[in-house]
Amino acid sequence: MSVDFEDCEACINITNDQELYFPDGNLVILTRDEAGNHTYFRVHQSILSKHSQALSDHMFPSSSPNSREIHDGVPLVEFQEDARDLNIFLKFLYEPFAAPLQRGDPDIAFKMFGALKLADKFLIEPLKDTILSYVREDWPQTLQGWDEREALYARRLKNSPKSIMDDVAPEPASVIRLARIFEPQLLIPAFYHLSRLPVNAVYGQPVQGSRSSRGVRTHLLSVEDREKAMVGRERMLRWFTDRLEAASLDTWQCSGGEACHVHIFWRVAVLHRSVIRSVDVLTTLRSMRSHKVERGTSQPVEDVVCPDCNARWDQLLADARRDFFDSLSTFFPNL
Ligand SMILES: [Zn+2]
Repeated sequence: MSVDFEDCEACINITNDQELYFPDGNLVILTRDEAGNHTYFRVHQSILSKHSQALSDHMFPSSSPNSREIHDGVPLVEFQEDARDLNIFLKFLYEPFAAPLQRGDPDIAFKMFGALKLADKFLIEPLKDTILSYVREDWPQTLQGWDEREALYARRLKNSPKSIMDDVAPEPASVIRLARIFEPQLLIPAFYHLSRLPVNAVYGQPVQGSRSSRGVRTHLLSVEDREKAMVGRERMLRWFTDRLEAASLDTWQCSGGEACHVHIFWRVAVLHRSVIRSVDVLTTLRSMRSHKVERGTSQPVEDVVCPDCNARWDQLLADARRDFFDSLSTFFPNL
C-alpha cells in the first residue's frame, strides 16, 4: 500500500527537542510516540560515554554497518522510549546541577519512572541511586518514620492553602509500579496506603471536595493489585477487631475505684466506628489517644478518665499501633 507523503506530513509532528538538539552534536536520537510523532535529540557521544559505556556502545555499536541512517548529516539511532522520559534522562547527563529532580517532590516515582528505567538499562548507577533514594524517603520502613511523613504532608497542606493533598503527598500506584521493578521493600507501605483509600479514589480529584483526601492513578493498577489491596484491608480490619477483643476492654477496671470503665466503653465504641469509617487503623489509633477531651461527642468536654486509666489506655493504643505496623507484611503477602 502506498503512503501519501503529504497526508503523513499533515498528521504527524516532527520536532527537534527544544533543549537537547545541539548543532555540533555528532549523533541524532529519534523517538516516536504512539501517534507516530517524531522527536529528535542531537547529542555528543563524548558526553554520553562519560556517563555510560553501555549507552555509548548502544549508539555506536562496533558491529554497526557502514551505511548507518543519517539525519542532519550525522548518524541516527532510534530509541523506543517516550520523548519526555528521554528529555529528562538526557538532562541529568547534560545538566547535572540543574537536574529535573527536586528533593521533596512527592511525585518523583511517577515523573522519573522513565528516566529510572533508562538509567537502569544503561547502567548509570548514580542516577538510579539518586532517584530511588528520594522515592524511598516517602515510604519509611519504621512506624516512627511513617508518622513523621504523615505529619510532614499535613504541614505541607496547611502551609499551602491552594493545594490539595495529592500536590504534597505521594501517590501509591506509581510507587507500586516502580517498586515492583526496583525497590520491592516499598511495596508493603505503598499497599498499606492504597488499602486505606476509598476504592474509587482518583488522583487529583479530592473526595467530596476535601483537600486532605488522597487519590490513586487507577490506570496504573492491575486487577491483581486491587484484589491484593482489598484482601489486605479485610485482614487489617480483622486483625484490629481481634486485637481489641483480646484486650478485654469490656471488663476494664479502674485501680482507683472510679467509673472509668464507662468512658472506656464509649471510647472503644468510637474507636470501632472510626476505623470502619476511615479504614485507617494507624491514624485512628493515634487520634484516639487520650487528651483533655472525652471522645464520642461532637463537643469537647473535660476528661473524666483518671490519669492511671488514661496512661493504660494510651499504652494499649501505642502497643497496638506498633504491632499493627510490624504485621503489615502479613496483611499483604505475595506482593
Ligand atoms: Zn481510672
